[in-house]
Amino acid sequence: MLDDASRLNPTAVRGVLFAGNSVESTTQVVAPLLRRIAEGDDPPLAIAGVRHSMGRQSLLAGGWVLDTRPMNEILLDSAAGVVRVGAGATWREIVPVLNAAGFAPKVMQSNHDFSVGGSLSVNCHGWHTNHPPIAATVRSFRLLTADGDVITCSPTENVEQFGLVLGGYGLFGVILDVDLDVWPNALYSPHFSTVRTRDYATTFTERVYAAGSAVEMAYGRLSVDPRSFLEEAILVTFTPDPGTRGAALPLTSPGMPQLQRAVFRNSAGSDVGKALRWGVEREMAPWLAGPLSRNSILNEPVAVFADHSPGTRDILHEYFVPQQRLWEFVQKARGILERGRVELLNVTVRDVRQDHRTALAYARQDVFGLVMNFRQEDTSEAEDRMCSTTRQLIDAAIDVNGTFYLPYRLHGTDDQVRRAYPAWERVVAAKRRHDPGEVFRNHLYNSYAR
Ligand SMILES: Cc1cc2nc3c(=O)[nH]c(=O)nc-3n(C[C@H](O)[C@H](O)[C@H](O)COP(=O)(O)OP(=O)(O)OC[C@H]3O[C@@H](n4cnc5c(N)ncnc54)[C@H](O)[C@@H]3O)c2cc1C
Repeated sequence: MLDDASRLNPTAVRGVLFAGNSVESTTQVVAPLLRRIAEGDDPPLAIAGVRHSMGRQSLLAGGWVLDTRPMNEILLDSAAGVVRVGAGATWREIVPVLNAAGFAPKVMQSNHDFSVGGSLSVNCHGWHTNHPPIAATVRSFRLLTADGDVITCSPTENVEQFGLVLGGYGLFGVILDVDLDVWPNALYSPHFSTVRTRDYATTFTERVYAAGSAVEMAYGRLSVDPRSFLEEAILVTFTPDPGTRGAALPLTSPGMPQLQRAVFRNSAGSDVGKALRWGVEREMAPWLAGPLSRNSILNEPVAVFADHSPGTRDILHEYFVPQQRLWEFVQKARGILERGRVELLNVTVRDVRQDHRTALAYARQDVFGLVMNFRQEDTSEAEDRMCSTTRQLIDAAIDVNGTFYLPYRLHGTDDQVRRAYPAWERVVAAKRRHDPGEVFRNHLYNSYAR
C-alpha cells in the first residue's frame, strides 16, 4: 500500500522497484521490467519521486512503482554554471552542494522536499521573478524510454521528447539525470507592502518589471481573514544586497519555524485565528524579517506548516491567470469559495513568465499562479464539496483565459482538462506513438486519456 501527500489515496500496488544510485545501475534494473511489461507479463509502471503530488500521479493501482530516490548523484560544474543531478535527488540534497560553491537553484518550488524528476515532470515554478517554469533552466536530460533505450534530450536533440517529458508527468519514460542551469546565490533584503488585491497586478508590474528593478524573488499573499477576504494582499519582494552575489553564505532556513507553525496552524478552523494571523503577517512580519540568502529562503521543508491531524488534510490547488486579469478571477473565486463551505487556509501568488518549451504548458502567457491551501475533513461530504468547488474554480480560471495545475487533486472533468490544456489530445497521441504498449501509466493518465 502506498499513498501520496494528500493522505487520501491509499493504493495497493504490485510492488516497488528501487532505482540504482547511477544511470547505469538504474537502467540495468528497470529495462528488463519494461520488456516484461511490453510483453504483457507484468503490469505497467508508475514513476515516483517523493510522491508529493496529490492525485496518484506517481501511483498506479495494481501496477509497479519505481522509487527514483536512490538515483541522487550531484555534480556541479562551477565554470559552466551547470549542475548534473540524478533525477531522484531532492532540493534538500542539492541546495547545500550549490550553496558551498556560491550558487543556488535558478528555479525550484518554494520548499526543498521535492525530487528533481518530480519537479521536471510537473514543470514546477516558485518565487523567482521574471522567469518561466523550471523547463527553461534545463540544458539536457537523459531518458530511459519505453523501449529500454537511453537517449539524450535537449533543445537541439530529440526535441519532441524534450518538450513532452518536461511537464509530462512520467508518461514518456524515466528521467535519469539532468543538466540544470544554476544562479549565483546572494543575500536578499525583503520589502513588504500591503496592497488592495485589485491593484496587485499594477503594483507588481511597477515594482518587479520596471526598468532598473533589481527584484529577483517575490510572492504575494491574499488575506483569508474574513474581514478582508481576498481583498487585501501583501507583496513581498527580495532584492540582492550589493557585493554578496556569488558568495559562499551560511545556509539556514527562514526563521522561527515553531512560531510560524503555531500562528499558521492556530488559524485552522478559526476566524479569530485567521484574523490574528493576517495581523501578524501584515504588521509584525516586516519587523521580524531580515536579510536572508536566496538558498536560505528556498531551504524550507513543507513540514513547517504541514497538517498531521488524523481527521483533516491540507490540500493544495493552483490556478494560473493572465496577470492583468488577476482581480477578475479573484472576484469570481471569492463568491465560489464563500458559497462552497470549504476552508481556505492560505493563498500565495507567484509570477510565472511564458513557457515556450513544454507541450503541456500551463503558462502559455505571463501568468500569476494562485496557490490555494485548503483544510479538508476526511469525509466523503467534504470531498464532494471540494470537488464541486474545484470544478467551479477551474471554470472561473478558464473564463479569464487561465488554467489550473495538474499535480493536485484530479477533480477536473475530462472537458475541463481539454479546455484548460488544448494540447492534451496531441500529447496523448504522442504518448501512444512513443509508448505504444502503455508501459508507463499512472492515475493522471488513467483518469483523462481516452
Ligand atoms: C506542500 C507542497 C508544496 C508545493 N509547492 C509547489 C511550488 O511551490 N511550486 C510548484 O510548482 N509545485 C509545488 N508543489 C507541487 C510539486 O512540485 C509536485 O507535486 C512535484 O511533482 C513534487 O515532486 P515529487 O518528487 O514529490 O514528485 P512525485 O509526486 O513523486 O511525482 C510527480 C510526477 O512526476 C513523475 N516523475 C517523478 N520522477 C520522475 C522521473 N525521474 N522521470 C519521469 N517522471 C517522473 C511522476 O510519475 C508523477 O507523474 C507542491 C506540493 C506540495 C505537496
